[in-house]
Parts: sequence; C-alpha cells; structure tokens
Amino acid sequence: MDAKKRIEELAAELLKHQYLYYVRARPEISDEEYDRMFDALLRLEKRFPQYAGANSPSRRIGSDLDNAFPEKAHTVPVLSLDKVYQAEELEQWLLKTAAAAGGGAGFTVEEKIDGASIVLYYDRGELQYALTRGNGLLGNDVSANVRTISQVPLRIAESSPLAVRGEIYIMRGDFERFNSQVAEKYANPRNLAAGSLRNLKSSLAARVPLNIFVYEGFFQNGSGRDHLEILQRLLELGFRVNPHLGYFSADEAKRLLALRLFPGISAEPLTGLKEYLLRRAATRAEIPYDIDGLVIKVVEMDFRRELGTTAHHPRWAMAYKFDSPQGRTVLLDVQVQVGRNGRVTPVALLKPVALSGSTVTRATLHNQDYIDMLELGIGDEVSISKRGDVIPAVDEVLEKSEQAPGIYKLPDRCPFCQMPLVKEGAHHFCKNDACPERRRRMLEYFCAKEQMDIETLGEKTIAFLFAKGWVQSIPDIYRFDYGLLAGEEGFKEKKITRIRAAVEASKSRPFAKVLAALGFEGVASAVATALIANGFDSVEKIVACAKKNDWEAFARMEGIGEVTARLLVEHFSSPVNLKLIARLREIGLQFQAAGGGPERMDDSFAGQVWVVSGTFANFSPRSLAVTEIEKRGGKVAESVSSRTNFLLSGSHPGSKLARAEKLRIPIVTEGEFLKLLAGK
Ligand SMILES: [Zn+2]
Repeated sequence: MDAKKRIEELAAELLKHQYLYYVRARPEISDEEYDRMFDALLRLEKRFPQYAGANSPSRRIGSDLDNAFPEKAHTVPVLSLDKVYQAEELEQWLLKTAAAAGGGAGFTVEEKIDGASIVLYYDRGELQYALTRGNGLLGNDVSANVRTISQVPLRIAESSPLAVRGEIYIMRGDFERFNSQVAEKYANPRNLAAGSLRNLKSSLAARVPLNIFVYEGFFQNGSGRDHLEILQRLLELGFRVNPHLGYFSADEAKRLLALRLFPGISAEPLTGLKEYLLRRAATRAEIPYDIDGLVIKVVEMDFRRELGTTAHHPRWAMAYKFDSPQGRTVLLDVQVQVGRNGRVTPVALLKPVALSGSTVTRATLHNQDYIDMLELGIGDEVSISKRGDVIPAVDEVLEKSEQAPGIYKLPDRCPFCQMPLVKEGAHHFCKNDACPERRRRMLEYFCAKEQMDIETLGEKTIAFLFAKGWVQSIPDIYRFDYGLLAGEEGFKEKKITRIRAAVEASKSRPFAKVLAALGFEGVASAVATALIANGFDSVEKIVACAKKNDWEAFARMEGIGEVTARLLVEHFSSPVNLKLIARLREIGLQFQAAGGGPERMDDSFAGQVWVVSGTFANFSPRSLAVTEIEKRGGKVAESVSSRTNFLLSGSHPGSKLARAEKLRIPIVTEGEFLKLLAGK
C-alpha cells in the first residue's frame, strides 16, 4: 500500500477514536491499540512529511516551534451580549421579546462558560483555522494550539464552509492540579485557558487539559432553521454541545419537540424561567467548571433576523450574569487599624450589601490620600467592587451624606497608645514600639499559620492573654504558665494541654519560619529563605554581617534590594532585637538551618547542660556564648534546674545566679569560660 493512502487511513481512524474517547467518553479500542496506531502514524509522517496534513491527529501533541498569532478577519458576526444582573430583568426581557414574536417563539437558556471565546472555521470538511474573539472583527489565529485540544474535531462530515463559536475552558480540579505544579500561578481557570491558547509553543498548550463547548453554528448550506436543529447538527458532526440546556416556550408542541431533540433538558412554559434562573444560580458550584451566568437566546432563525442587532449586541439574546460586580451601600464608620509595624490602615465599615455571592460589611480605604481622592465622609452613599475577586474596595461616592457632609480625617494620634501619628509617603504610622496594638498584632502574626503555626493560639486567645497582661511579648508565649488559665471561661483542662503541646511543638519550627515570624519589617518568608539559601544559615552569621554594617553583602543576594539590605542591618544590630533573639534562643527556638549553622568543633562539652546569664565583654550578643557551647557538643537550657551542670555568669546575672548557688551548681565566669574554650 502506498504511504500517502496509509497515512490518510490511519489519520481518519485515529480521529474517530479521539472523538469516541474525548467527546463521547466511549472508547472502542484499548489505550495500547490506540498508541500502536498513533506510533505507526508518527513513523510514517516522519518518513513522508509531505503527506502529513494540517489536521493530522499528530497535531494534538503540538510542536516546539514558536507560534505566531497573526490577526485575521472574522467572516461571521462575533458580537458580545447585552447583560442583566437580576432574574426579574431577564424575565421582563423574555416577556417583551416573546410578545414581539406573536407568542409562539422558543428560547434556550445555556450556561455562560467562564473561559476563552473561540471561533472555529471549517471548509471542505477540515478545520482551516481558529480565531480568538479579538475585537469582534479581527481575531488572533491560534490554530496550532487549538488543534492540540482533543475535543475539537479536526475533520467533519460537512464539506461546505462552516463557522462554529465556542468557549474553551478548564475544569476547576484540573486547574488546581496544574497551578500546584507551576511556579507562576494563574489567578483562575479562565486566565489559564486564555493563557494556554496564547502559548508560544503548542507542545506546552497540549499539556493543559483544555475542554470546549460549542454553542453557535453558522452553516453556509442553510442547514438548520432553528437553534435547536443547529445544536443537534453540531452534535452529529462530532462537536461537544453543553447538555445543561433549558428550553422555554408558551407553545406546548414546541416544548415537546425540544424534548424529543434533547431528552433530559428542562422544557417549561415562560412562567418557569425565573425559578429556573434562581435554581441554576444557586447550584452553580455543583458543576466542575466555572460559569459566570446564563445566556438566553431566541431559537427561531427567522425571528432572530427580524429582531436584528444593535451596533454592539444581538437583540435576540441576553446574558444573565450571576454576580453584580458592583454594590451600592452606605459608609457607617471608619475603623483605624494599626499593624505590627505601625502602619495605619483605615477600614470602611459598611451597611451590609450582597456582592459577588457574599455579604460585604468592610472594605479597605488604603490611606488618607485615597479617602481625600474619593472625598469620602461618614454617612455617604458609596459604590464598592471586588477587584480580582479579593478584598472589596470603595470605588466612589455616589451621594454625599445630607446630615454631616464632610471628608473623613484620620485621627492625629494612635487610637491605641495616643502617640502622634507620623506620615511617611502615602501612609500614616504609629512609631511607638511599645504601642499595645502593635504588640498584640505582632503576637498574632508570630502564632499565625503562615509563621509559627501555633494553632491553639488564634486571634481570640492571643487577645485574651494579652488583655490579661499574661502574654505581652513573644518570649512570654513560652514562659507563661498556661495552668493559670484553669478556671477561665473557655479554657478546659483539655484545651490547656493542647496549648502547651502546640507551644512546645513550635520550638522545632525551622529557622526560616522563626526568622520570618519575628516580624521584622521587610523580613518575610521570601527574604528569610533567600538569606538561608545564600549561606546566612544561622542567626550568628546574619548578626555578624549586620554588626559590620555590611549591607552590601545582603544586597548581593538575588531578591534582596538595597532597602531590604539596609533594613536587615538595622534589625539585626538593634539591641532590642538582639535581646529578643537571645531570649528565644535560650528558650529553644531554632536559630540555625538544619545542616547549617556553626560547625561542630569537638566534643569537649558533650553531655553538659549550660545556662547562660548576664552580659559579657567578649560575647555580645549572649548567643555568641551559646554558639561556643553548642560547637563543642554542649546543650544550653533557658532556666537553672537540678539538671544544669554549669552556669556561665556575666555581669548582672540576676535571679539565675541565686538559684544556681542554691542548687550548688558550679558558676563559671567569663574569664574561666575563655580558658575552657581555649582547651585549658
Ligand atoms: Zn500606637
């Protein structure tokens, strides 16, 4: 048999099995058989590339050649849809349009898939090219990437020209999996689908599990007098048509006909529309892909032509969007938040309003400049929106309050410590390190899941312990006797045991977590990781560098700029911070990365438990003495007990010295310690 004929036969056979597998989900041959056939085709096409067609099934795996996406004109109308946000509005549109048709019209309601719009152009039974929607007149030719989507028919049993509109989308589950494997995350499935269509290499597009639903067919041969017939014909040609379909008509005979064409759909009189819309909106989370609304369309083509289009939208269709992107409400008050680093954030307290499927009562106002720009005052009516579906923001003032028109001003003083606020750049700051709110927020941050993950010490418990005066600083978390909580409301014995265990467990959190949890400005998780990766794998090394004021050593690292580098020097040479680090180190937190830190010198202190107290001339911070002990195999404990072997005592040793004397524990002075280190 000649190669050309064999290639064509194999291609036709493989396309048939791809359709059965990917569109119908009813494979007729085993995966092994399919692979054998596929390999045979690839081998032949390699030997006889002149016979490999543009729509060979081998195009599904894509190529590593860079794609270009030239613009090309659409030859069918690619209009966008007019839209409404309320079921009542859509019902009114339906009744008005049905009346204009003399009562007999039918309407489909289809899912509005949240994906990337595409138009597939066929001729002589083959996919010629595929264009993005573009501006509606010109689209980008993304054919090579579209060919990798197994659900897109490459050949069809229709020889006259045909254009098909559809939506390319990705399942939520596939999206999560894909996103977990790539460094640059996509915000949502739609972005990933649209981004994949524009992948420069079609072999990369082929790695994304893309799907398609088609919803309009433009047949040149006049086939299809109405929309349902067209959908039926598209199904026959091997396209995927969304089975979640509603049909509405006042004409019972038409409803029965629709049911015969598409068994299992909802076919109801016009009065059923509103309930159908609300039901679909409420159950949207149950389908495994995102939809952002429903589309209602006139079914009869004659009637569509009669209604025509406006400059932008067809008059025979309307989108019903689930989520109003904007809400209208009233600013009740402004709450002034102070963060752990002192930054002041005004937060709008709003009259509750429904927005994108949730009730919004708060929105960020960023800073005073933003409030001034909006000319926003308490009592004003405002419009709010969710940008990128995250934190709601106040966008504009719709109407000033009649009672007290004015512009909100941040207070001059911190509402928590009464220190004057300082403006730096766009933000105000409370510069008081002892500010109770800043300290409470610091504790909250330290215990949070992303940092030390002490899950029993949530915001509420921290607030309680802080208000009682029991936990005021990070070391207090480790020093407080949680037994004192017995008898307090909400603290049963079991809970106290859990808190103790969680606090103890946090001592083994790795150095990178501890470093970020300290909450020093500019030293979040990414910077902590960068420091460790660049050899600053123990706190001593960071402190040593900071003490030399060598910010350039920090700035040499990737991901650390001059500002952060100078902050590092500031943080790690500040006496207050060094004291905090020394305390936490004594408590037993990790201040060196696993496998990093000071190298083991010898075992001269092996088996010994030391306690270090007071200040030293040669070991400042005190942790330098701790390092020396650990380098020689010794252990350092926080408090003196009967298990302590030696107390290293500097000047001002405090109560530890008294306790050591009482327990008759040998006291080692700094001079004696230096001799020990020297091996004498
Ligand atoms: Zn303050």
